[in-house]
Amino acid sequence: MVSNKPHILILDNEPISSHVLARVLAAEYRVQRVPDANHILDAVRRPGRRPDLILLDVSPPKWEGFDICRQIKEDEMTQSVPVMLITQGDHADDEVRGFKLGAADCITRPFRLDLVKARIRRQIRLKINNDLLERYANQDCLTDIANRRRFDLALDAEWRRAMRDVNPLSLLMVDVDCFKQYNDLYGHLEGDQCLRQIAGAMAQVLTRPGDLLARYGGEEFAVILPGTDLEGACLIGGRLREAIAEMNIPHLREDGVGRVTISVGCASERPTQAQSCHQLILTADNQLYAAKNAGRDCVRAGKKTV
Ligand code: GH3
Ligand code: MG
Ligand code: MG
Repeated sequence: MVSNKPHILILDNEPISSHVLARVLAAEYRVQRVPDANHILDAVRRPGRRPDLILLDVSPPKWEGFDICRQIKEDEMTQSVPVMLITQGDHADDEVRGFKLGAADCITRPFRLDLVKARIRRQIRLKINNDLLERYANQDCLTDIANRRRFDLALDAEWRRAMRDVNPLSLLMVDVDCFKQYNDLYGHLEGDQCLRQIAGAMAQVLTRPGDLLARYGGEEFAVILPGTDLEGACLIGGRLREAIAEMNIPHLREDGVGRVTISVGCASERPTQAQSCHQLILTADNQLYAAKNAGRDCVRAGKKTV
């Protein structure tokens, strides 16, 4: 079982100092010594299992630590992992070079262990705080899925990526049917619980790592489906609709349906310079409106009906 302790990776070219460092830190952290630079890059690129701190030797004769630090800091996916450099003796130039590349701090051999521990503790504390801030900035606090801010940034990024890779990009807009009545009948707290259940069930339908489910606002959700054409988007929209209907959450609404349902609008584009991602939102919104007009609990996409 993986422990909850903060995870530190160490690449130290000197076996004795590496061993001492690992032993001193083992009480507070999950410490992993790695034999070479490739191990660092592999570990840092694994989503969900990234270390909380990397200690990276940049002392001669192996200068590769600088290159690893540069690669980690240049990649948007990995740059949030702090890197502390291990330098040798009086090498202020190495420290300057490391800070320019984005290193968080440096420790110098021979180690003064109380100082090393204090510096590491400070970096870990900063990392934990940064992770928390990032979570608050990107996650919807009611449903724990992505929030509107994250959605806006992701749609823009996926639009540009799809244009570069000449791929289709699809968007689903999802709206809970007759939800005002749900609140009126069962109260806002039950309403909130219902939105949490809906978000959880929809998240289970989406299996591709690149798909993004977000709370767009109120009782509306949006799903970004990179590399998916309109046919694929309709398929996913249909699965979402089924998943919610099959939960059979009672809702004694005026239209007599008797359970909570959703309506879904689908849109798909092959992005070009001439358009913007707003067109995708507009089309998906129009299709959602069409689904509502068609009686709710259904999916609409262009002329397609699911
Ligand atoms: P339609 O089928 O046409 O979508 O009808 P509707 O009642 O769902 O649509 P409308 O936009 O009139 O109402 C949306 C309601 O969703 C209004 C509000 O009470 C409820 N709602 C929005 N956000 C939340 C929330 O965070 N919690 C709860 N409990 N209710 C919310
Ligand atoms: Mg609505
Ligand atoms: Mg609604």
